[in-house]
Amino acid sequence: MSEIYKNPSYTPIERTNDLLSRMTLEEKIGQMCIVDGRKDPETWIYKKHVGSLLHVTGDKVIKLQKMASKTRLGIPILFGIDAVHGHAFQSGATVFPSQLGMSSSWNPELLEKIAHITAIEVTLTGLHWTFSPVLCIGRDLRWGRIDETFGEDPYLIGILASAMIRGYQGKNLSDPYSILACAKHFIAYGETQGGRDSSESDVSERKLRSIFLPPFVEAIKAGCATFMAGYNAIDGIPCSANKWLLTNLLKEELNFNGFVVTDWDNVGNLHRKQKVAPNIKKACEIALSAGNDMIMSTPEFFEEAVKLVKEGIIKEDLIDKACRRILMLKFKLGLFDNKRFPNSKKAISILGCKEHRKIAYKSALESIVLLKNENNILPLSKEIKRIALIGPNCNDIQAQLGDWSFGARELEHPEIPTLDYHPEYDTSPIVTILKGMKKRAGNDIIINYEKGCDIIDKNNHNINKAVKIAKKSDVVIAVVGDTNILNGELRDRVELNLTGAQQQLLTALKETGKPLIVVLINGKPLTIPWIKENADAILEAWNPGLEGGNALASIIFGDFNPCGKLTISFPRHIGQQPVFYNQLPGWHSNRYVEMSAEPLFPFGFGLSYTNYEYSNLQVSSTNLKPTDKLTVSVDVHNTGKYDGTEIVQLYINDIYSSVTTPIKELKGFKRINLKAGEKKRVSITIPVSSLTLINSECKSIVEPGEFEIMIGSSSMDKDLLKIVVEVI
Ligand code: BGC
Repeated sequence: MSEIYKNPSYTPIERTNDLLSRMTLEEKIGQMCIVDGRKDPETWIYKKHVGSLLHVTGDKVIKLQKMASKTRLGIPILFGIDAVHGHAFQSGATVFPSQLGMSSSWNPELLEKIAHITAIEVTLTGLHWTFSPVLCIGRDLRWGRIDETFGEDPYLIGILASAMIRGYQGKNLSDPYSILACAKHFIAYGETQGGRDSSESDVSERKLRSIFLPPFVEAIKAGCATFMAGYNAIDGIPCSANKWLLTNLLKEELNFNGFVVTDWDNVGNLHRKQKVAPNIKKACEIALSAGNDMIMSTPEFFEEAVKLVKEGIIKEDLIDKACRRILMLKFKLGLFDNKRFPNSKKAISILGCKEHRKIAYKSALESIVLLKNENNILPLSKEIKRIALIGPNCNDIQAQLGDWSFGARELEHPEIPTLDYHPEYDTSPIVTILKGMKKRAGNDIIINYEKGCDIIDKNNHNINKAVKIAKKSDVVIAVVGDTNILNGELRDRVELNLTGAQQQLLTALKETGKPLIVVLINGKPLTIPWIKENADAILEAWNPGLEGGNALASIIFGDFNPCGKLTISFPRHIGQQPVFYNQLPGWHSNRYVEMSAEPLFPFGFGLSYTNYEYSNLQVSSTNLKPTDKLTVSVDVHNTGKYDGTEIVQLYINDIYSSVTTPIKELKGFKRINLKAGEKKRVSITIPVSSLTLINSECKSIVEPGEFEIMIGSSSMDKDLLKIVVEVI
């Protein structure tokens, strides 16, 4: 074989260098383009040498890859897709809980498995790259994309995101089931003003380094292959125009060696929306100079970039650098040697197979959070024989699967035919709560179902019928929440209360005097003080995925003891926004005129069918050097009647520091299994070097002084044992 780049015995670097030396300017710039593969891909392949396509599914992948192999250099196409909680646009694939849901498990090993299964299902359909995980911090709940986050804590986000990256990418990118991960959206995208998607984030460099950067640093450590630049601007500079961010910080300071892709038409919008460029050509120049390597869905980029180089405005060396990063990953994936065509036969037997569904079931179980359980109404007693199952989310597939799944995305892209996403999306494998409850109840228990009301339209309801059913039952289970049109991109909200006639329905059900269990299926925390006050039990199930109905039934009937803990705080009122736990200290009152500033349910909170008692807190030393490790130990005793899993949480507070630091910061956690009556000594070790702050010079340091160490079952003071240590 004469061409080195075609010869697998050479290294990816040698092959990339060889290939680059053979490429024309146009071919190199084509590699830097990713466009929607549903729109005229032939022209893009033959005339514009496109490097990557997104949103292609089915056998089209084979056809397009074959076309690419017939081009002059035969460079394979990299196919990308938003497989963010399973390969959820693909019919028959395993759909896991939303990212917010899975985060409530606090279970990195489980998330790694979820990502690995997703990678298997994605590769079997011929795709190579998922735009996941999301590392945005979920603080302002008005923001439409809260459901896509791992919640509000940077430390936890870093741990869970790294687990998913490992799961997607495997040990080696060349493994047959490895796909590229993408850490997004870089950076502070969730922090935009008023929760308005893709507007301005008012974030200083110090805040950026303190809060928003740490999860991305963990993603780099986990070897994340690609980063996606956010839609937002920070301090006046859109992320895709920010050379300091993409080149100085990400590539030079943090040594990120994968490639940076823009978000959808970021470059076009530098001109059209954000108006930092008077025309598209200037927008392309700015984006290239900033350090974007791949440009998503700005079709003009191809021609404009060619002109910019030919006119000497952009040096070809910059193009080479970007193209090199992309080609390196194509070689590392082994795309040149094995086209990774879809394997439809195998796909049919593996997508959504029993083994994968087991993990979807486990992840739904572990993502459900018990928020209230008055008089231990749950699990249901054996005496209960008639259940009224009421509510708009009992049998709503879309609400149950969540965003980035079957049917969820067409709404804002009416020009794209629905059928393109899921030609024959088969909804039969999806177990809604209605289905799951009926199956679990068997013949002994009667389940009477009534939708009760529409989730949006206030006037469309049948509350009378719901009340009638409730009156004839031993218990009412009301399944309410929100649905996809209330979550996602372009769907920011000004209210977080229950929509449609849901509140009316709940009030009427309460008036029947029957015990009321509320199950929430929703993309984000809602303001539910009425439910907290009036329901006997509350289960937060998020968007639990295709096994959601089975998981909820298991919890309700007591086959599984719930163990999820919130990774995001619930406000009492929208006006408290943001209500995250790791606030900076203020010094006036902790109240609004109308109500407390405290959350309704805080970060880290989640009940169980059993009780855990914490005692006997000890630390390995109270005088620590910055190079030391600190071990914090505590006894945890399961004092109840059920076996269970507890998530032990370790927080710190830097008591006096040169800058204000959060009143509490999560620094470690451990999941432990305890049999009823069992007591275990639990130890969590953290390096003292993790007790950092970002000082006024934007340097990360550990300042000597006292630190409060807190350990317990939630971020609430009443749930934490505390001790002070000193760093000398
Ligand atoms: C979203 C990204 C997504 C991309 C590709 C954008 O609208 O912001 O998160 O990966 O589309 O579908």
